[in-house]
Amino acid sequence: MDPWIRTEEDRELVNWAGELASLMAKRAETYDREGTFVHEQIDLLTQAGYASLTVPKEFGGRGCNLRQFLLAQERLAEGDSAAALVMGWHLGITQSLAVTGAWPDDMYRAFCKDAAAGQALINACGSEPDTGSPSRGGRPTTVAKREPGGYSITGQKTWATGSPVITHILVTAAIAGEDRVGEFLVHRDNSGLSVRESWDSMSMRGTGSHTLVLENAFVPDANLLDAMAPGGKSKRGGDGGGWLLHIPATYLGIANAARRFTLDFANAYSPNSLNGPIAAVPHVRDKIGQMEVERMTARTLLFATAMRYDEAPLPDRINMRADLGLAKYAAVNAAVRIVDLAMRIAGGQSILRTLPLERYYRDVRAGLHNPPMDDVTLSILAEEALQGRR
Ligand SMILES: Cc1cc2nc3c(=O)[nH]c(=O)nc-3n(C[C@H](O)[C@H](O)[C@H](O)COP(=O)(O)OP(=O)(O)OC[C@H]3O[C@@H](n4cnc5c(N)ncnc54)[C@H](O)[C@@H]3O)c2cc1C
Repeated sequence: MDPWIRTEEDRELVNWAGELASLMAKRAETYDREGTFVHEQIDLLTQAGYASLTVPKEFGGRGCNLRQFLLAQERLAEGDSAAALVMGWHLGITQSLAVTGAWPDDMYRAFCKDAAAGQALINACGSEPDTGSPSRGGRPTTVAKREPGGYSITGQKTWATGSPVITHILVTAAIAGEDRVGEFLVHRDNSGLSVRESWDSMSMRGTGSHTLVLENAFVPDANLLDAMAPGGKSKRGGDGGGWLLHIPATYLGIANAARRFTLDFANAYSPNSLNGPIAAVPHVRDKIGQMEVERMTARTLLFATAMRYDEAPLPDRINMRADLGLAKYAAVNAAVRIVDLAMRIAGGQSILRTLPLERYYRDVRAGLHNPPMDDVTLSILAEEALQGRR
């Protein structure tokens, strides 16, 4: 019994995500080994309608709230976390656009129509070699120059998850001659856009998080969707960023997969020095208990935060930044510890590539480097504590 599955609709959703996860699980190892983009997984998901999960019902989608979105993401990631992360960015941004109304209506409606038909996938590409994580507020070195009727954008965006397939790319660029930083929509078919296949990581190898190269990529005026003065708030940020909880949901999915594998392993593995499986050994039971503590605590905080977020009026969501960061911090660090415990239970075999645990171990660590980073959350919590706000 999952206490966070509240309705029949939730149950159907999670079961469906579970079926998709099972189909993907068979191929996940190959993508990881080869370090290639998870094309077939994304085809499967878009054809199944997964890309419409957070598209509002009025525009042909499933209209999931944050809690439902996270339930599905967590379950999906048990099958293939790389594919889940690609979909997580898309679904999260799609949800935040619905909540904030950050785009002009006609543009959002057209995007939703394509997303519901499995023909559009979006991601925000803000990271750069010289500025690092965009969440730290550095001015992009990618530059947008004014031209008649629009802007010409030149620069590079690293860590562009889903780069082999995303159709709608949100790119931040410093507007030449101004203080402001713009967020531009660049379509995949833009002749000034190319993908440099630079992604060769130890974790989340199938995400295709390559480098996007923009060389005089022209976009019309209408594609400047937002322009922030230094320290200013973006329109997309108007919902407090709850959608970013797709990140901890995805990494908890990896931990769930490690836990499930290890429980089966502990029940089945019976070395001849014992009279039965290692599940009866006290230190193994202790570690299983610790995994449960980590998992239940993290899920409780994650889903309770998501529910509070769903129930909060829009202006109050802005004030949930610390709570959202805390939920991410707790869940991702718990996920890392759960995979570690799972490997200790399985013993030496856990490092063999014949078992999936070493892949989970590599993948789960990537969550530490998705926003918000731990140091940012700790500093916000410290600030609130020192000001007596908690
Ligand atoms: C699997 C995966 C997928 C990703 N997908 C995307 C994506 O789709 N789009 C995207 O834009 N990004 C994406 N990212 C990139 C991510 O958002 C970060 O930009 C990236 O992980 C680097 O973050 P960082 O904080 O380590 O980097 P850096 O900013 O380079 O920081 C490096 C080190 O310096 C410290 N540091 C740097 N600046 C400061 C500062 N101002 N104050 C305090 N400490 C500082 C950091 O704490 C860290 O220890 C992805 C990352 C991963 C792991």
